[in-house]
Amino acid sequence: MLTVTTIAGVRARRAELDRLGRRVALVPTMGALHEGHLALVRRGRELADEVWASVFVNPTQFGPGEDFERYPRDLETDRRLLEAVGTALLFAPGVKEMYPRPPLTVVSLPGLAERLCGAYRPGHFAGVATVVAKLLGIARPEVAVFGAKDWQQVTVIRRMVADLDMPARIEVLPTIRETDGLAMSSRNAYLKPAERVAAARIYSALVAVKDAVVGGERDAAAVAAMLAERIGREPLLTVQYAEAVNPDTLERNEKIAGRVLLVVAVHAGTTRLIDNLLVEVPS
Ligand code: AMP
Repeated sequence: MLTVTTIAGVRARRAELDRLGRRVALVPTMGALHEGHLALVRRGRELADEVWASVFVNPTQFGPGEDFERYPRDLETDRRLLEAVGTALLFAPGVKEMYPRPPLTVVSLPGLAERLCGAYRPGHFAGVATVVAKLLGIARPEVAVFGAKDWQQVTVIRRMVADLDMPARIEVLPTIRETDGLAMSSRNAYLKPAERVAAARIYSALVAVKDAVVGGERDAAAVAAMLAERIGREPLLTVQYAEAVNPDTLERNEKIAGRVLLVVAVHAGTTRLIDNLLVEVPS
């Protein structure tokens, strides 16, 4: 595995692959890798001749008072894990390499980026969209692989790629979970033991509410309230939002029909966790 820290280094390798007619799948990450990330890398290997990963804790997607400084960083372990699953190139730039000066150009998606998490993390999705646009421009992958765990992020990226005619195809993989259902996340490392146990309640609530929808509940407000109530029964969890939205627009339709996304953000102590579950509604 090649480890590259400069944009020029990535471009040089990409130029070689262009000459060889080889295709690249890119997996953008912030590191502190777990099985969820590695599933994306394995899928990337199937989709292209080489899979590349990036590890970059992107400062522009963190708000003031968020966890940018304490976000877990362990590049050596990440490198070992990526190598073991067949990654051809790791792009691990420093902040100065990605942002030699504060970027004047920002990708913003008004509306879409302001719903759900965006309402609580102003500027977050502009940071995400901008850094993903940069990574796609640097690596020029044929396909980029993302996880459905960050559903709103995927929605934003898909829309950016469509609106700006970016050539990469966007591939989305289902959420990888711990055995008790908790969605894998680098931030799970922050959880105290009791919080870690309590956090399993997020997924069990999503599943219970999914069953209610499949069983006939079609009132989106009632479904959202049921989700918040079920998670809130666990004293160590505080619901930031619990919603039942259209999976494409992320807007709430009063009556559920077709497909609905159950989506939540929850605090366990100081740790913010997100999760979602897509429900196909029987017609
Ligand atoms: P992150 O490093 O958290 O920014 O995530 C990098 C990529 O991994 C994103 O596309 C995430 O959606 C994806 N990802 C994170 N956690 C999971 C998971 N548990 N299952 C599948 N994909 C995930």
